[in-house]
Amino acid sequence: MPETPEEIYKRARFIADSDGRLPIPMYVAMPQFPYEGEFYVKPLIEPLVPEPPRRGEDGPAECPRCQYPDDGVIWSDDEWILATDSQPSGLPVAVLLQPREHLDLGQLDDAQAAAMGTMVVHLERAIASLDGVARVHVARWGDTDAHLNVFLYARPEGFGQFRGACLSLWEDILPPTPEGVWALNHKEVADRFAESYGGTVHIQAQQTDTSGIADRLSGL
Ligand SMILES: [Zn+2]
Repeated sequence: MPETPEEIYKRARFIADSDGRLPIPMYVAMPQFPYEGEFYVKPLIEPLVPEPPRRGEDGPAECPRCQYPDDGVIWSDDEWILATDSQPSGLPVAVLLQPREHLDLGQLDDAQAAAMGTMVVHLERAIASLDGVARVHVARWGDTDAHLNVFLYARPEGFGQFRGACLSLWEDILPPTPEGVWALNHKEVADRFAESYGGTVHIQAQQTDTSGIADRLSGL
């Protein structure tokens, strides 16, 4: 039988200091951890059950994706979209794959689940085929939105310091990729993905284009 939230909290507090701070984990000493200096773990907060609702928990009316279905979309087919943030990331490529329908991961039927898995594999190939991309990482966190989003991040070649889960921290530390480069990278990813998987590309980009990425992201 799983531990209750109270039991987990009690187990953790047992080794915490008088302020409720747990010991520093070993990964702060790893090369890919982006920060250095003197660290403290934040005091552990007591569990809250039931948890506050996520965005869109009560349905599409409160869901950002369902309210703005075209935002940042660079590729789509009848059931899925591939989108970017409105601003360039510090990484060469950062995209999210989402169903058009207001569904979370556990609500996909077997056909939708199979399509998602196939698309993730095709996207890995499309992103990894770009010059300067060493690795593609896939993440689904699920704590902010009730509408499924699967993130794919490109780790730039040569930057072993960004390995693994710390890549998502480095993404916010690095300055944004120049907009023209960012748009071209995502145009190439969308084109290669459409070539191998199908669907329709919704991004136009040219090497010399220096205008905002939003101008080059067309709607569905
Ligand atoms: Zn939604």
